Amino acid sequence: MTIIRYGQQDITQDDINAVVDVLKSVNLTQGPTISAFERGVAQIAGIRHAVAVNSATSALHIACLALDLGPGDWLWTTPNTFVASANCALYCGASVDFVDIDPITYNLCPGALEAKLVEAEKIGRLPKIVVPVHLTGQPCDMAAIHALGQRFGFRIVEDASHAIGGRYRGEPIGNGRYSDITIFSFHPVKIITTAEGGMALTNDDRLATRLGLLRSHGITREPELMEGQIDDGSWYYQQITLGYNYRMTDIQAALGLSQLARLDDYISRRHEIAGRYRMLLADMPITLPWQHPDSYSAYHLYVIRLQLENIAPSHREVFEHMRTSGVMVNLHYIPVHTQPYYRRLGFKAGDYPQAEKYYREAISIPMHPTLTDAEQDRVGKALREAIGR
Ligand SMILES: *Cc1c(COP(=O)(O)O)cnc(C)c1O
Repeated sequence: MTIIRYGQQDITQDDINAVVDVLKSVNLTQGPTISAFERGVAQIAGIRHAVAVNSATSALHIACLALDLGPGDWLWTTPNTFVASANCALYCGASVDFVDIDPITYNLCPGALEAKLVEAEKIGRLPKIVVPVHLTGQPCDMAAIHALGQRFGFRIVEDASHAIGGRYRGEPIGNGRYSDITIFSFHPVKIITTAEGGMALTNDDRLATRLGLLRSHGITREPELMEGQIDDGSWYYQQITLGYNYRMTDIQAALGLSQLARLDDYISRRHEIAGRYRMLLADMPITLPWQHPDSYSAYHLYVIRLQLENIAPSHREVFEHMRTSGVMVNLHYIPVHTQPYYRRLGFKAGDYPQAEKYYREAISIPMHPTLTDAEQDRVGKALREAIGR
């Protein structure tokens, strides 16, 4: 019995050739392939600047630093995300709070955000940054979140780790119309991969410069960024801020650039698979992912919710039956505030009821461009068995 995974990368001979070409070249890192990949992503996203880094987690960290997040500041995000969307604030010495999800889209709920902002304003505890996460690749209600940003004066970092290639109101995710910085992830389960890797995108020249410095030790070789008299030789560089080694390698960038050429095909194929699931699963006691008319999802994930009141087995039983049938389903996500580390910061079960209810019902079923129709049929059959028992 072959195992069907919930997500997996697609590596072609062209990808392998592109990586081998870099291995045979002079620059394994900090060479020309990084800039080519950055330009490629910037072009598809419709944005001025793209800064490649070694993970989306690093991208989130330097995005927060570039926006001056620090001790005494607050960052708000959704509890229904990977821990990295919240951890970035703690790296900067700032504090984290969460806003519950919309029960239909599973994304950060703009209504709940507004209500929480009104209360926070009264006690002088407004967030400096809000991080909306485009869960499964379906964009958040960015127009509403942006309008609240204007009203309450917070900055916006879109965690688009699931969403490269998706669109919001007809425009590409990452174009910066509704946010200061957008983050992509190129982890192998995501839409395109560089093994490990991420990118931070912005239209703001000043932010782009800061992101570039933070990625590499805070060091510059640009005379216009340097301080004081510069009469040393051509070897000279200056460290002008405290940065990190968050650089992507050219080997990784070559893989990313080669994958990028197939982005549109990947997203179309993901939509085909979603369409087929809609037919295969239509009559089952589960809730299929609802798609907002403003959104063209990248469909990183396909999340179903069990209608537990209409079925005999428990969520866990359905999940385990799928796995023993060779269908490696998954669950995105365990609400971040219920993690032991976050409980120690004072959060508790019951704080975000919609995210917690979602967690008790959700299952990510296989969704990736190399999934075959026959495999999809097997997923449908296993789910029918699991639920019917
Ligand atoms: C995968 C993911 C990240 C982290 O990405 P890395 O590239 O692995 O650091 C952050 N946020 C979300 C929503 C993710 O899915």
